[in-house]
Amino acid sequence: MKEFVKTLEILGEKIELGESRTIDFNIAKLYTSTSIEIPIIIERSIHPGPTVLITAAIHGDEINGVEIVRQLISRKINKPKRGTIISIPILNVFGFLNTDRAFPDGRDLNRSFPGNRRGSLASRVAYFFTNEILPHADYCVDFHTGGASRFNAPQVRINPGDENLLKLAKIFNVPFSVYSKNLKKTYRSTCGKKGIPIILFEGGKSLESNTQIVNYGVRGTKRFLYYLNMLDSKFNVTNPSRDTVVIEKSRWIRAQKSGLFHLKIKCNELVKKGATLATITDPYGKMKFNVIAPNKGYVINVNQAPIVHQGDAIFHMSTKDDQAQGEEMENIDE
Ligand SMILES: [Zn+2]
Repeated sequence: MKEFVKTLEILGEKIELGESRTIDFNIAKLYTSTSIEIPIIIERSIHPGPTVLITAAIHGDEINGVEIVRQLISRKINKPKRGTIISIPILNVFGFLNTDRAFPDGRDLNRSFPGNRRGSLASRVAYFFTNEILPHADYCVDFHTGGASRFNAPQVRINPGDENLLKLAKIFNVPFSVYSKNLKKTYRSTCGKKGIPIILFEGGKSLESNTQIVNYGVRGTKRFLYYLNMLDSKFNVTNPSRDTVVIEKSRWIRAQKSGLFHLKIKCNELVKKGATLATITDPYGKMKFNVIAPNKGYVINVNQAPIVHQGDAIFHMSTKDDQAQGEEMENIDE
């Protein structure tokens, strides 16, 4: 843990122990001269303790995460028993306004870390965040969903071999903990380089608020705060009936045909080798192609698109296969 600071200083504002404060970070106006703020909600206990930084909507179309952080705030889960909780429900406010994953110029904030003061707008937001906010954090929790129509089972992403993160993921305890290498220029890789543990939660898909997924995110955060002795004692902590399943190897299955896409299984399911996962048909009732499970495994992402192109990622599955490394391991969502 970092050295304890009595007075927290963010963007020139001083926040003392026991204080609540919302700081509106203003990085650039809209082209209509309208001001755009990124609210940073800070809650400090009178009792010293760790600082947890909670973020969502690094991708502007990932609404589930925004709802998770909103609930943490409105239910006052973010008022810690000790220490400090910094919540940023919408980091990419520009994308959120356009309900778009990226910034208006197409840049992906989660490929712009640690950022550059004179770079693109996304790069500037990353730079400000990395230099002004992140240094205060002892732990980070970041909420994501699958990209486009790819629906993720609730899961925490762990850089392979990081035993500390694996331990924290088991405490967060959502259905899956998935090994996936830190991608270059992501928030997660910047945390990795700075030695700040980050719980990266993935669940649901973009442009959707899914009650079940939101509950997983909120309950996981409560378990995590409880572990840090930061959760107010008025909150109950429950553990799920099944502990998180750790997935060390996984692969993406891509569509071998283009066509209408018909799912035959649900996300989260454990399927047998040879099981039919989906069918792909033409629109004319002539062609039907079965998508077959290449191995026994958990399905941790299903593409819910009604139509697919050949080559589209349609399922993410656990595997025991060593050859599932490389391109297949690429994290196409985070
Ligand atoms: Zn994301």
